[in-house]
Amino acid sequence: METIFTKIRDGVIPSVKLHEDELCFVILDINPVNKGHLLVITNECHPTLADCPEATLAHLMGVVQRADAKLREALGCDATNIVINNGEESGQEVKHLHIHVIPRYKGDQKHFRLAKEHYEEGEMERLGRRLEF
Ligand code: AMP
Repeated sequence: METIFTKIRDGVIPSVKLHEDELCFVILDINPVNKGHLLVITNECHPTLADCPEATLAHLMGVVQRADAKLREALGCDATNIVINNGEESGQEVKHLHIHVIPRYKGDQKHFRLAKEHYEEGEMERLGRRLEF
């Protein structure tokens, strides 16, 4: 399947590429939350996490770890958000698996918070039993 990221991978659409290897490539996000916000993208188009081979996912996490270290070293960021929007309803715009690595700074006001719910008495334990795997 062709996506904006396959076009970037193939050089049809320009990008600032930071890394590439046999399974993934890394570019700067064009609309960064903070400057240096990057995307670790699979070479093959796997639309979501469920479509991606486990070995590729393991490799991606190693690349994310290196990207995180580079952002801290080069930009002096204090922390990072590592984000996968996994499916359209989660906010995924590009249906080609990618991991956001977002540099964060103390006091940067780029709050990343989802609204939370509360469990009724016993509900959490019942749900936990349904979700064991
Ligand atoms: P998501 O919402 O998780 O699918 O994120 C898609 C990301 O791709 C967004 O953060 C966009 O800013 C980014 N993006 C879209 N087009 C480009 C592009 N041509 N170059 C770099 N990043 C892009």
